[in-house]
Amino acid sequence: NRRIVLNARPVGVPTAEDFRLERTAVPAPADSQVLLRTLYLSLDPYMRGRMSDRPSYAPPVELDAVMVGGTVSRVEASNHADFQVGDLVLNEGGWQDYALSDGNGVMKLGSKISHPSYALSVLGMPGFTAYYGLLTIGKPKAGETVVVASASGAVGSVVGQIAKLKGCRVVGIASGEEKCRYVVDTLGFDVCIDRRDPAFAEKLAVACPGGIDVYFENVGGAVFDAVLPLLNNGARIPVCGLIANYNDTALPPGPNRLPLLASVILTKRITMQGFIILDHYATEFAGFFREMSGWVAEGKVQIREDLVDGLEQAPQAFIGLLAGENFGKVVVRVADR
Ligand code: NDP
Repeated sequence: NRRIVLNARPVGVPTAEDFRLERTAVPAPADSQVLLRTLYLSLDPYMRGRMSDRPSYAPPVELDAVMVGGTVSRVEASNHADFQVGDLVLNEGGWQDYALSDGNGVMKLGSKISHPSYALSVLGMPGFTAYYGLLTIGKPKAGETVVVASASGAVGSVVGQIAKLKGCRVVGIASGEEKCRYVVDTLGFDVCIDRRDPAFAEKLAVACPGGIDVYFENVGGAVFDAVLPLLNNGARIPVCGLIANYNDTALPPGPNRLPLLASVILTKRITMQGFIILDHYATEFAGFFREMSGWVAEGKVQIREDLVDGLEQAPQAFIGLLAGENFGKVVVRVADR
């Protein structure tokens, strides 16, 4: 049993030395427990927050403890009445080959699922985040302009595709020509702008001739600076993530632009609302899953996975995710079966 633990708390950008690969015996399930074999491990930006001991909405991973993470797993041994050997499940197995569970929070995926790893992307947490944030907070209307960054990524790609289904003009932002081409040609966004282009802010303005009605905030930083002057009266901003700042160790140097932000919010009657998707599973997940499963089956929503082979590659893939090196939803293939 291999497992990757938090070796040190990163200061700024995480490095390989912040993780440690350990080998232990495969654990045996006690009464009412199941032993789960990890097939796919999801890597997500929120894990950067768990590596720090700053106050947040969830407790940090302890030093020397296994890194947390969503997994698709197969039941390897079961002393639990609800689970049979061979069942495919969605669980929080973390960065390891095997995990024990008492069944709490473990969801059966059924035998008919065509792409089990989609439970970690379009049909799981990132897809749900896009759906809930855009529709419930963003409230897009046909003809409006929706802007989303990390547009080829797990959340952003789904945000833009749903906005297209709702009849919006959709402007994506991504890094590099290849991602931008994919966002337009395959995902069907109207335009995609390279955030690393020196003329990025000007190009964004040209791409939004009627201003911005919904800005789905995935990144913060320089992208938000470019969006702010383009916001229309009554614009909605679901605040989902601020990945541009996750490795920061201090606030950026001045000038203090808080008064500018506050005055735009006031004079343009902007709604800016943060959300943490964990809060909404009990009430909204079933509806999301039904509708999104239909869209995926009908080919109306596409998903690109950035598959990484081998648990030992997880630290490097995670470091790359924070730097924008991923192209699609990052999933580690830990075992074939
Ligand atoms: P992605 O698959 O989109 O990967 C992250 C992407 O972020 C990178 O590929 C890169 O895209 C972009 N990025 C990295 N650094 C910067 C930067 N400095 N400026 C602009 N863009 C940058 O990840 P997810 O879809 O999983 O997550 C997207 C966001 O949603 C994150 O902020 C995450 O924390 C948040 N989130 C929030 C949830 C919630 O409950 N509120 C739940 C799930 C996710 P590129 O290089 O192409 O620009």
